[in-house]
Amino acid sequence: MSRRQTKAQTVVIIGMGDTGVLVATRLSRYFNVIGISTKPNLVSGQELGKRLADLSWWNRYYNTPLRRFKALADVEIHHAKAECVDLAAKTVVVVDPSNHETVIPFDFLVIASGTSNGFWRDDHLRSEAQIDERLEQDAAAIRDANTVAIVGGGPCGVSCALNIRRAYPEKMVSLYISADLPLPGYHDEARRYYHRELTDAGVQIFSGHRAIAEEPAPSAGTIRFESGQSVVADAIIWSTGNRKPHTRFLPDALLDDEGFVKTKDTLEVVGSDCLFAIGDVASTDPARSSARNWAYGILVNNIKRKAAGKAPNKHYAPPANRWGSIVGPQDDGLTLHQDSGKTTRLSRWLVENLLLPTVVQRVIYRGVKSLRG
Ligand SMILES: Cc1cc2nc3c(=O)[nH]c(=O)nc-3n(C[C@H](O)[C@H](O)[C@H](O)COP(=O)(O)OP(=O)(O)OC[C@H]3O[C@@H](n4cnc5c(N)ncnc54)[C@H](O)[C@@H]3O)c2cc1C
Repeated sequence: MSRRQTKAQTVVIIGMGDTGVLVATRLSRYFNVIGISTKPNLVSGQELGKRLADLSWWNRYYNTPLRRFKALADVEIHHAKAECVDLAAKTVVVVDPSNHETVIPFDFLVIASGTSNGFWRDDHLRSEAQIDERLEQDAAAIRDANTVAIVGGGPCGVSCALNIRRAYPEKMVSLYISADLPLPGYHDEARRYYHRELTDAGVQIFSGHRAIAEEPAPSAGTIRFESGQSVVADAIIWSTGNRKPHTRFLPDALLDDEGFVKTKDTLEVVGSDCLFAIGDVASTDPARSSARNWAYGILVNNIKRKAAGKAPNKHYAPPANRWGSIVGPQDDGLTLHQDSGKTTRLSRWLVENLLLPTVVQRVIYRGVKSLRG
């Protein structure tokens, strides 16, 4: 099928976060692409620790107005929230910030709406100014605290603990984890490495501490533990992995018991022939890992084949262990952990001068007009 023929077909993408943007930059050459997003910026879920400890650096690479992506020039962006998908009619109903409703028809629909996670990821409609205000408030809460407690020893908790302690060595930073070592799901080498890094940086690690989750989770004050102990901190970061998928706009039949989208390894949605899903919302594997591992290329390939009347032929295979950077660039560079347990260190110079501006901005995102900051 020629590009002119596929251009006559419309792909609607719900969610323009880390994965929605990548998919849109690739599909817009072949299809009429419409992106729906509650945020007019790509507000990345990556590097929470850097975001809280060094917001101006984080903003340069991880908070980018969608209009600055060169490859989105042909994509029609709706700053709106998807409220309802009608599978039979092939339409999405969206509501914009002034409560105006629009019905958008599609040939293919990509669900990339992510999950809520703590205070730092949500599905609320926000303007650019509101995004900036919120980011500044979160960073200020850490800046103003003398004691910071982080609950949860996954990558997010480790990144917060290490980055905050290194940025503010005068603060007391405590990390509460339920296992002996942080980073469950990572290779043992990586787990031991970060136990050492955190301890050397002066983070107090309390292993065997399982906190009692409260709703809403307090951002300051008392944390209670199952052992009966409790602690008090000026700022609390809950990173216990309690993610809630953004899928209320989809029929229940497409969702698993936890509300994530039932997704095949071709990234097609189970029970539909025109829906695809990717990223944290897609139940491809227990870790729902398709935001990483180059899955967007698989989705783009398979949607193009489907539009041409062919069967999808690429399959997503999650890695055995989680891999990648855990704490982002530090003074001594960026440490990458492979799923085999090997580590690779890229110098800070390489990260600032080649990796972020060239590999990420130019190659992966296909060009970003004038950087922030
Ligand atoms: C190197 C690296 C570091 C990472 N560090 C962290 C970290 O520190 N902390 C962390 O939590 N994760 C981290 N992650 C995970 C990563 O942030 C997520 O996997 C990624 O953000 C998921 O992308 P997504 O596109 O699925 O969702 P998101 O990037 O969350 O995008 C979803 C978008 O959809 C929008 N949306 C939601 N509902 C609707 C709706 N109804 N209508 C329209 N739009 C909607 C949301 O507002 C959002 O803009 C990291 C990942 C990597 C690769």
